[in-house]
Amino acid sequence: MAEIRKCANCEAPEMMPVSREMQIYHSVYRYKCQSCGEDLEMVPLAGVGIEMTVGALALGFWGMILFHGAGSPGWLALGLLSGASLLYAFLAFSKLVTYWRYPVVASATVAAELTHLPTKHIGDRLMAGLEKLGFLAGLLAPLLFIGVILGIAFLIGYVNFTYFE
Ligand SMILES: [Zn+2]
Repeated sequence: MAEIRKCANCEAPEMMPVSREMQIYHSVYRYKCQSCGEDLEMVPLAGVGIEMTVGALALGFWGMILFHGAGSPGWLALGLLSGASLLYAFLAFSKLVTYWRYPVVASATVAAELTHLPTKHIGDRLMAGLEKLGFLAGLLAPLLFIGVILGIAFLIGYVNFTYFE
């Protein structure tokens, strides 16, 4: 993820990664152009994948509640849902667009300290590992996480039912 990229502002192949920080669902890499000073924030592809899956689940859940209620959902509720979906899709897409606007410089070699931007907490290290796996891993990670939680809940319920009833 820490690569040298071409600047979309001045075309110099000098966008350097300067920092990495955690946000709620993913990390963000900050880049700075050494030539014109242009700043850029990039979300790793795995992070975009996580956001897409979490967003799709949340919007799907919202839609399910709407359509399972009594009667048909009102236009206002439907409008809000489609508005939120469009906005969400746009935000995810705009994060992907930075990959195309600021391409990796083909011959780039990044100094070792830049490829190992500090990762502090255990969650952060897990995330850094996941981000190396790429977009698809990010898409699947929330589903895997939910699966593990459900599995644990099922096990607790099973043990409870089998041994304590
Ligand atoms: Zn520049």
